Amino acid sequence: MELTQCVHRAVRQTPDLPATIFGDRVRTWAESADRVARLAAALGDLGIGPGDRVGLLALNSDVYHELLLAVPWADAVVTPVNTRWAASEIAYSLQDSDTRVLYVDETFAPLVPQLREEAPCLRTVIGGAEVVDYLIDTHEPAPDARRGGDSLAGIFYTGGTTGRPKGVMLSHDNILVSALGSAAAGGFMSPGGRYLHAAPMFHLADGAAWSARNVVGGTHVMVPSFTPKGVAEAIERHRVTDVLLVPTMIQLLVDSPEAAEHDLSSLRHLVYGASPISEALLDRAAERLPTTEFTQAYGMTELAPVATLLSPEAHHNARLRRSAGQAAPHVEVMVVDDQDHEVPRGTVGEIVVRGDNVMLGYWNRPEETASALRGGWMHTGDGGYMDENGYVYVVDRLKDMIVSGGENVYSAEVENALAKHPAVASCAVIGVPDEQWGERVHAVVVLVDGHSPTADELRDHCREHIAGYKTPRSVEFVEELPVSGAGKILKRVLRSRHWEGRDRGVS
Ligand code: ATP
Ligand code: MG
Repeated sequence: MELTQCVHRAVRQTPDLPATIFGDRVRTWAESADRVARLAAALGDLGIGPGDRVGLLALNSDVYHELLLAVPWADAVVTPVNTRWAASEIAYSLQDSDTRVLYVDETFAPLVPQLREEAPCLRTVIGGAEVVDYLIDTHEPAPDARRGGDSLAGIFYTGGTTGRPKGVMLSHDNILVSALGSAAAGGFMSPGGRYLHAAPMFHLADGAAWSARNVVGGTHVMVPSFTPKGVAEAIERHRVTDVLLVPTMIQLLVDSPEAAEHDLSSLRHLVYGASPISEALLDRAAERLPTTEFTQAYGMTELAPVATLLSPEAHHNARLRRSAGQAAPHVEVMVVDDQDHEVPRGTVGEIVVRGDNVMLGYWNRPEETASALRGGWMHTGDGGYMDENGYVYVVDRLKDMIVSGGENVYSAEVENALAKHPAVASCAVIGVPDEQWGERVHAVVVLVDGHSPTADELRDHCREHIAGYKTPRSVEFVEELPVSGAGKILKRVLRSRHWEGRDRGVS
């Protein structure tokens, strides 16, 4: 089955239901389908042939939704571009994926001259929603290419948290298997509801919710980008039922005085994931959103993207809510040692995943593909353990694990302890070089306005929650933490200042 299948169903079943709501603009599924078919014809006219790449460099909008469908309709492959990247990084991804046609909205139009220069593969730039409207008005609807579920649907770049982003090749089936599995687990998307695209649509976390909303049917509501006020307003105005947010966005939303003025009671499901969340933040969020059920998703681009889900019910169990949940219906999950043997329950190892959602491979990186997919399992690079009932606890990225005096310290555990302190707005814990211990636990902290605890106060606070050797030996206060385009804290950037010229073993 293809990503476009939802359009054919929706046209037959719910033609008059809004497909998209963007600001004041509402388009029904019938209108949306017609626009998609015409846009696909236009892409063909622009010289896009089977398997050619079409890039999307834009903030969230209804046109983004239409392009995500028009590209496969035209038998082409989509490459969503991370809008937070610098122009040279964007050019790298376009050139790397040999993207021929690029949709650029008004916000990113100023980058076009540089992109054209640094990515000579680019032949045509579609500049803005008005040009899309013009193309739609001047073309007749094309038939859906329907190239088959196992064909390449898109090249999706990883977050670039641990290094240079890698292009992940996903088939239609990869994405739909993950969407169907997530929807089948419940708590992810209510049929016929309204999903708010508050996270960036270029990121596959939001892409997963996009495809899940399509398969269960309903409406997409978009805000151009995340702001606490904009998101709260959109939820209230459009009676949004589900949203996916990364933890940093949840923090901004629940702590925002502007968002506090809005009624968020229509929200039934909040899916969060993409990075660890502190329990303290989860408590604050549950208090602010008493009518909302929380589901955690753990996954990665390479898994299209969902691997495990923590159900709303499990959130009421103090122990389970520290986990990332159980394998979603579409996957098998196992924890292995460095010889790829399954470890006993409760023992930390690498989380590996098998299922029809696992990527076709990395684009142009056959060696990394072979290494990541060895033995038929996707090796996530995440450390974790599994309990007797298959609940998976993600403890850290293997690259972020701190080895101090021969003991493993998982940064997420220390961050959790720190985040329980009322003065801590957000924090990151990293390993920095230490003569005596090899690595030492170092905390980088952003404080809540108006608070000024000393480093010793925070250390004493941590010691009440975690063992002495895990307690940060040094604390640094900063105004803000470096984050990736998807809002993840870039620990390699924090680490690089401390490790300059030294070898950490892992980068
Ligand atoms: P790169 O692979 O380029 O370094 P990235 O790994 O951040 O970037 P993504 O595929 O967007 O790119 O993110 C997947 C990673 O995010 C996972 O491997 C895991 O480390 C982290 N992650 C995702 N969901 C969760 C979660 N629920 N809890 C903890 N960590 C999570
Ligand atoms: Mg990764």
